[in-house]
Amino acid sequence: MDAPPLHPRKTPPYRVHWNWEIFKACNYRCPYCPTYDNAAPSLRLPVSEWKTVWDRLFVRYGSGEIRFTGGEPTLYPDFLPLVGRLQERHTVNITTNLSFDAQAWIAAVRPENVFLSASLHLDHVSAEDFLAKLLLLWKHRHYATVAFVAYPPHLPRLKELQRSFQENGIIFKIIPFNGEYGGKRYPDDYSPEERALMDSAIASSAEPGTRKMNQALQGFALKEAAAEAPLCRMGEMYAKIEPDGTVRRCCSIGVEALGRITDEDLRLYDDPKACSAPCKCWKAMVVGRYEAQAKDLWHMPEHTIHKLGPS
Ligand code: SF4
Ligand code: SF4
Repeated sequence: MDAPPLHPRKTPPYRVHWNWEIFKACNYRCPYCPTYDNAAPSLRLPVSEWKTVWDRLFVRYGSGEIRFTGGEPTLYPDFLPLVGRLQERHTVNITTNLSFDAQAWIAAVRPENVFLSASLHLDHVSAEDFLAKLLLLWKHRHYATVAFVAYPPHLPRLKELQRSFQENGIIFKIIPFNGEYGGKRYPDDYSPEERALMDSAIASSAEPGTRKMNQALQGFALKEAAAEAPLCRMGEMYAKIEPDGTVRRCCSIGVEALGRITDEDLRLYDDPKACSAPCKCWKAMVVGRYEAQAKDLWHMPEHTIHKLGPS
């Protein structure tokens, strides 16, 4: 590595958020899922090589947040040892359907610097079993939030489920359904009654930060950001890693590739760049807009050892 360290980054959240779609395979078949594909190719490396990759990025960009998505990332080969290596220098957040063996997880994973973003999928698990598993994990300091897709057939349970998770101190996120159901195209075709139900649940979010996040999730930020070709810090503060290892500045279709995650000379942007891609991001880092919301939308716990600042 001949370049100097480029951390902390100059603007909120001061650490890089690496969205790693590690593969598309999943053991569930949710009717609203746009991604699962058990046949899709993905980059497979031994844990030791992944550690080399992420240690290199630590030297260059400091301790970042590695956000696993998929598919179901916990099914990736050697996932638990991989998390064990990554959590030494980065914080790790795992979007998961929580289908893994909780006892095995507790035995194998240290809770420091690892967080779960659990998605409740009612076609595959009961809310009661899901909550019981979460509480077991919490008891062992494996903290998790919950995400619920506002799929029309599941909407009648929205308020009841929100109440039961929030009563246990668990953040409850409401994800708008994006797709077709019953001849309608969502989210645009939510009925006034469905929209009112969701608005009511958003207003019942347990604390202001979650409420702001739930509001942003409904697409308000997307509509604002889509109105122009703005300067955006995605690509500087954020990168999307696709299953084949391609790194792009964000998740939207048509944005530039920055290289591959295994490239020794992989570089993020060092400044915001103009973007004319059709923006589908509810957390777009549009300069002048996102900074005020960064505390709520881009909250990342600091690493317990590698705090902000050159190390
Ligand atoms: S658990 Fe997640 S990745 Fe798997 S099918 Fe459901 S929504 Fe898709
Ligand atoms: S598509 Fe949106 S989030 Fe992505 S770089 Fe462009 S403005 Fe930013």
